[in-house]
Amino acid sequence: MQVTIVGGGIIGLSTAYYLNLAGVQVSVIDRGDFSDGCSYGNAGMIVPSHFIPLAAPGVIRQGLKWLLDETSPFHIKPRLDLDLVRWLYLFARNANQKNVDQSMTLLRDMNLLSKYLYQDLKKQPGFDIGMEEKGILMLFKSEHVREEEARTALLANQLGLETRVLTAADLAQVEPSVKLDVLGGVHYPGDAHLIPSSLMKILKKHLQWAGVQFIPNTAITSFRTGKNQIKGVLTEQGKEIEVDRLVLAGGSWSSNLARSLKIALPLQGGKGYSMTLTGHTPKPGIPSILVEARVAITPMGNDLRIAGTLEIAGLNSPVNPKRVRGILQAVPTYYPEIKASGQNTPVWSGYRPCSPDGLPYIGRHQRYDNLYLNTGHAMMGLSLGPVSGLLMKELICEEHPSLPLGLLDPNRFS
Ligand SMILES: Cc1cc2nc3c(=O)[nH]c(=O)nc-3n(C[C@H](O)[C@H](O)[C@H](O)COP(=O)(O)OP(=O)(O)OC[C@H]3O[C@@H](n4cnc5c(N)ncnc54)[C@H](O)[C@@H]3O)c2cc1C
Repeated sequence: MQVTIVGGGIIGLSTAYYLNLAGVQVSVIDRGDFSDGCSYGNAGMIVPSHFIPLAAPGVIRQGLKWLLDETSPFHIKPRLDLDLVRWLYLFARNANQKNVDQSMTLLRDMNLLSKYLYQDLKKQPGFDIGMEEKGILMLFKSEHVREEEARTALLANQLGLETRVLTAADLAQVEPSVKLDVLGGVHYPGDAHLIPSSLMKILKKHLQWAGVQFIPNTAITSFRTGKNQIKGVLTEQGKEIEVDRLVLAGGSWSSNLARSLKIALPLQGGKGYSMTLTGHTPKPGIPSILVEARVAITPMGNDLRIAGTLEIAGLNSPVNPKRVRGILQAVPTYYPEIKASGQNTPVWSGYRPCSPDGLPYIGRHQRYDNLYLNTGHAMMGLSLGPVSGLLMKELICEEHPSLPLGLLDPNRFS
């Protein structure tokens, strides 16, 4: 068996990793050179605590409130685009308690298994991926957010996750490295973090050594098909690469790839930004999410990464300086010693592949016998990389899946 993977982000490389381990011949095609993209500049958090999908009650109301604020952490750019209209309709239909109830156990289990797989990966020689298991802190400044976070913590306990609801005084003990100006926080000690660019570099090097073929600087523009089969992928340079089994792991561009196969895959790119402060910045020891501001703070070796914003504005939108300012200005309101703005830090941006129900698409597509999808991981692609790679390997090798795949079916909106 030979598997061709389109897309060399964390999902494509994780899929290659588990298929290669199973002895399958694998090639990974990417239009870039495997050195940048959404899987490199993200906040690096591994998050069993994130068991509530993006499509949840209250999200639309909150989103509408933010729409008119140019520095807010969420924005949808209105545009006449039928794919966006369909995505918004499906999102609105799924942003309810039923979706949360049916997704949260699966998301918890996927994240827990993925963390376990990262722990395993980290033990291998050369896998110096900067993984630390100190958990994450959800930090808040307001009473109503404290109540919401305490409710989520209770739900997390019911799902078997450890949590500690902390006052400002408790936090000073748990996080002594920096001063905090917050009302309190919730510590999820079971979460972890790593340095995504190190992970990607090491994974690529390992896969090359293990015999996976890497095909860089090759954009796939269309496909040759016949008899419910994909026969080949056609490159921008006009060449055809024959395929036996094909996995689409093109991140936010997966819907464009699917469209050329006449498949309407609801997916929007949720643009986010990150800035990495280097040098003598005071650094927290534990990563955190500044809940009201929706900003993520992650210590990465000697650096500190600050990430945030979710803009649904198409895939070629320019950097929005107002939103970048919104992220940077939020930091010292929680960590008074960290002066993030005015430091002339380069701005990185990436597109999270967002499905309308907040669950990834992992499975075989009904239209072609040899087409598999592994995409739509939104804000959790780094966290869910290994488990998504493992599940895809199990599907392709016709093994019993480690977790139930029904809710992840890529045909669910067909
Ligand atoms: C600011 C920010 C912070 C984040 N923080 C976290 C976090 O802390 N934890 C977490 O779990 N997740 C986080 N995420 C989300 C995570 O980064 C993504 O979910 C993940 O990187 C998606 O991986 P992917 O492999 O699906 O897509 P990508 O990394 O985008 O990879 C897709 C690849 O497909 C290639 N491609 C696309 N079209 C074609 C084509 N036609 N031909 C050939 N190649 C093609 C692209 O070049 C790209 O390399 C964050 C995201 C952002 C933006």
